[in-house]
This record gives sequence, structure tokens and C-alpha cells, in this order.
Amino acid sequence: MSSVWNYFTLSGRVAYCKDKNCKYSKDHPHQAPTTTLIYHLKCNHPELYAQFKKPKKDEANKDSEQPTLKRAFASTSQICDEQPSIMHSLGLKGILLS
Ligand SMILES: [Zn+2]
Repeated sequence: MSSVWNYFTLSGRVAYCKDKNCKYSKDHPHQAPTTTLIYHLKCNHPELYAQFKKPKKDEANKDSEQPTLKRAFASTSQICDEQPSIMHSLGLKGILLS
């Protein structure tokens, strides 16, 4: 359930991204704490998000993946807007390519 913590370190109330090139930290919210972190993975570390999503994918397929797919896609862009980290992710890509 909270395997997202494979990608973040929780220190006190603050979650830190484990990616060495990423300075992301998030003050630990009381409600749905991992949701924001999962969104961060989705927007900034798509390859990690894919890993994170992998084990759950079979479960999701059993239920109703298809109706939620469009909605998830739509909300993704909003969330990405919320976190202006485009430069950051471009920088990461540059590192990966080099
Ligand atoms: Zn990060």
C-alpha cells in the first residue's frame, strides 16, 4: 500500500525524495499523505512511477481501469501544473541522456 516510501524518506513530518538529483520535499500532510508523493513520482520521475505502479497494475485491471484512465490522465496535467518542476524534469532527462 505505501510502497511509495521506497522512493521517499520520511524525516519527522517531512518527506524527502530519495532521488539524489531531486531536492523535493513535502511537509507531511495529515490526509492521504502518500497521494502527493505519488503525484510527484508521476510528474517528475515517470520511470520510478512506472516501477511503483507495476505491482498494482494487475489488481487495477481486475476492477475498472478503463473508466478511470481518462480521468487520471486529465488530473495528471493539472497536478503537473501545480508543481512547476518542468525545468527540473528536463534536467533529469538531460542527466539520463548523457
Ligand atoms: Zn523527486
